[in-house]
Amino acid sequence: MKSFSKKLLEWYNPASRNLPWKQTNDAYKIWLSEIILQQTRVEQGTPYYLAFIKQYPTVKKLAAAPLDDVLKLWEGLGYYSRARNLHVAAQQVMEEHKGKFPETHAEILQLKGIGNYTAAAIASFAYNLPHAVLDGNVFRVLSRVFGIETPIDSTEGKKQFEQLAQQLLDNKNPSTYNQAIMDFGALVCKPQNPLCEQCPFSSECKALELNKISLLPVKAKKLIKSERHFHYFVLFDAKDIYIKQRTAKDIWKGLFEFPVYESLQSTVNSQQIVSHPYIKKYGEPSTIDCRLSYKQTLSHQYINGHFYEIKLEKLPKFDKSYLKIPKTTILNYAFPKIVRSYLEDRLNFLT
Ligand code: SF4
Repeated sequence: MKSFSKKLLEWYNPASRNLPWKQTNDAYKIWLSEIILQQTRVEQGTPYYLAFIKQYPTVKKLAAAPLDDVLKLWEGLGYYSRARNLHVAAQQVMEEHKGKFPETHAEILQLKGIGNYTAAAIASFAYNLPHAVLDGNVFRVLSRVFGIETPIDSTEGKKQFEQLAQQLLDNKNPSTYNQAIMDFGALVCKPQNPLCEQCPFSSECKALELNKISLLPVKAKKLIKSERHFHYFVLFDAKDIYIKQRTAKDIWKGLFEFPVYESLQSTVNSQQIVSHPYIKKYGEPSTIDCRLSYKQTLSHQYINGHFYEIKLEKLPKFDKSYLKIPKTTILNYAFPKIVRSYLEDRLNFLT
């Protein structure tokens, strides 16, 4: 067959996905776009990319920003460890590279939150270095064209695909080649209903020949999601409300929420609420009202948030880990999506 890369580059039209981060070879902006687009759709990630570039046009500005501000700008995008790592890596660039984004694959890989895929993407898109990218799109295209059934999430599979991707790379045009194979996976060899009749590889594609398109790529592990129930106590009086920052090594570290009680059950009865440590210690409220429930799906967990509005004459004093804030300032804080959805529905009532 005509070489894989030649066919791919003949197919490629750089204008077919004209995204803002494709117009630059600034490593900082490419890095930002790559982190934002991990596990995020382009349509959802684009406004965040533009907002970050506007608020933090340089790595220096990002490094100097308070983490809470970075998390606030990230609010709604999910996988918040990406934002925390972004902030740490910006500081690494300032301290270890005098503010200049590193220019080799090995140095880029040392930055917090950057794995093989992101390092290859930055090295090739910003500096045209010959490192092949291997993301979900590339796994899919290679497994189908070459009929590879080794699971992509196994050590053996990763090695096999890495070697093949690197062999196929056009060393003269690594940036264009990498962009082309990712676009090809996104636009033609799609997960469902790939456009085989328009595909330049249809005459040699093993998956098409053997009728295995829907079976490739193969994944070894089936993901089992756990279910968690967060019972939120929205404690407020005429002026203030309590929130708390999540500090444990768990989901949503650094974000804010209401005082929470986690259980395995979806319901807690009124007796459980009044016997809850917060209420027991600080006295029964005059009303416990309006239980609203919201659901959020994360990659490994289903989170159910149940909100109990507890209006008090005067808020009790909690320890310093709880923040008593004026209700009117609540939207200045970054919350997980589930709390944000609740606030969108109930803000008028609370304030
Ligand atoms: S023929 Fe179909 S399955 Fe094979 S590479 Fe092309 S689009 Fe993908």
